[in-house]
Amino acid sequence: MARERLYLFDTTLRDGAQTNGVDFTLADKLAIAGMLDQLGIDYVEGGYPGANPTDTELFAKERKFDTTFTAFGMTRRPGRSTSNDPGLAALLDAKADAICFVAKAWDYHVRVALQTTEEENLASIRDSVKAAKAKGREVLLDCEHFFDGYKANAKYALACAKAAHEEGARWVVLCDTNGGTLPHEIETIVGEVCKVIPGDHVGIHAHNDTEQAVANSFAAVRAGARQIQGTLNGLGERCGNANLVSIIPTLKLKPEFSETFDIGVSDAALKKLAQVSHALDERLNRGSNRHAPYVGESAFATKAGIHASAIAKDPATYEHVAPDSVGNKRKVLVSEQAGKSNILAELERIGIKADKDDPRIGRLLEIVKERETIGYAYEAADASFEMLARRTLGTVPNYFDVTQFDVNVEQRNNAKGERVTVSMAVVKVRVGDDNMISAAEGNGPVNALDRALRKDLGKYQKYIDGLKLTDYRVRILNGGTEAVTRVLIESEDENGDHWTTIGVSPNIIDASFQALMDSIIYKLVKSGAPA
Ligand SMILES: [Zn+2]
Repeated sequence: MARERLYLFDTTLRDGAQTNGVDFTLADKLAIAGMLDQLGIDYVEGGYPGANPTDTELFAKERKFDTTFTAFGMTRRPGRSTSNDPGLAALLDAKADAICFVAKAWDYHVRVALQTTEEENLASIRDSVKAAKAKGREVLLDCEHFFDGYKANAKYALACAKAAHEEGARWVVLCDTNGGTLPHEIETIVGEVCKVIPGDHVGIHAHNDTEQAVANSFAAVRAGARQIQGTLNGLGERCGNANLVSIIPTLKLKPEFSETFDIGVSDAALKKLAQVSHALDERLNRGSNRHAPYVGESAFATKAGIHASAIAKDPATYEHVAPDSVGNKRKVLVSEQAGKSNILAELERIGIKADKDDPRIGRLLEIVKERETIGYAYEAADASFEMLARRTLGTVPNYFDVTQFDVNVEQRNNAKGERVTVSMAVVKVRVGDDNMISAAEGNGPVNALDRALRKDLGKYQKYIDGLKLTDYRVRILNGGTEAVTRVLIESEDENGDHWTTIGVSPNIIDASFQALMDSIIYKLVKSGAPA
């Protein structure tokens, strides 16, 4: 049976750019648009030409995308003609395949915010759609506050939508601008709209203010809408827009949708979804949500022992979809609830062969449990777990010894008479028969220690040249009678691989030293450095 086409419209670069703390450069916008294009998104809304220099520049040139590259802007201002409205002129001149107009659809907003008549607002919609069509553009109309407007005055909200449709707008998009509408209301109202405008011309634009933007989008599709608007990772002002990263796999992998609809995202592109989601966070210089559905690091992570043994027998027992279908990985957590099956599953995942009857496996489990009671958290520190496992199984060479280190922090006046705090570290290392001393300054004691430690490892130096620390997190825990410090260090190497190591101690320097050492030794093992 032929499936119906459902269209995806991404507004990460327009509505998503309203997110607190997000400020896209032109290069960011082009890179993100390219990613969305490759993913197979039908429409990419780039921004609002004329509203700011970045967006004006973005639309100043033809951009070579397969997606329908869309410019956003206002319908003509009340009381003006389309030929005498500079904002509209900038929009019509933009090098875009489509134009998405935003217009008021709530009579109250027309009166109070626009200070014009209901009839003039309808005329503005009609004239603007007509002008963009005459320029050869595909046209969309975002009906702002559609659902609140519909509840207040259904007749007028529908008249706005109909005005655009009758003038030949390809899509009329129903916006839940304040994000407060609930799924059953969306379903009812979209159903009413689809009696007047065919559903394959109706879109939904949901905001997440009751954390139901994704559910609201699906409710609209059930009621007949055939375009979903959203953003990558649910970016957007306040609580965000509908999250396309959750919507796409649901449409692709859940039979209710996948048997009824086709979307532009291929199975192969779907496998890149986790990567796309993480690439956006990296560009925004923020950590990814570990608990994000489908793509988060914990989305397919299991903790309890009985689950792990069932997963070893058949992964589908505790997974709603296959992790690799969205480019994610299964993860079995090592934790205080862990049984032997967790340990074995985790060893297998990191490529360590082990026999389940080997007494060293039981010992490793004991050590993990003991250490977790004093503050270690191995599920957050994959590389430290691997080091612990390899040491317990006796497979880590003794590359070098740190025989002594000294860190000092000094506050004094510099040559300009300014008060400065300077940190310095001295590390003594023995590599084979060679004894080395390295000293380094740093912007803090841990930074100084890290620099000194990695300055000269003799014959091993070449293996750690590409190693760098990308994140350093500290938590103070209440471990029994005294507070202890837990340090997590994230490292990266020349191949772009990431790993996390952990240290725990009442002393922050000591905890940091443990995590730094684990990271360096992990890198040596990973690089196959000879013993
Ligand atoms: Zn919006």
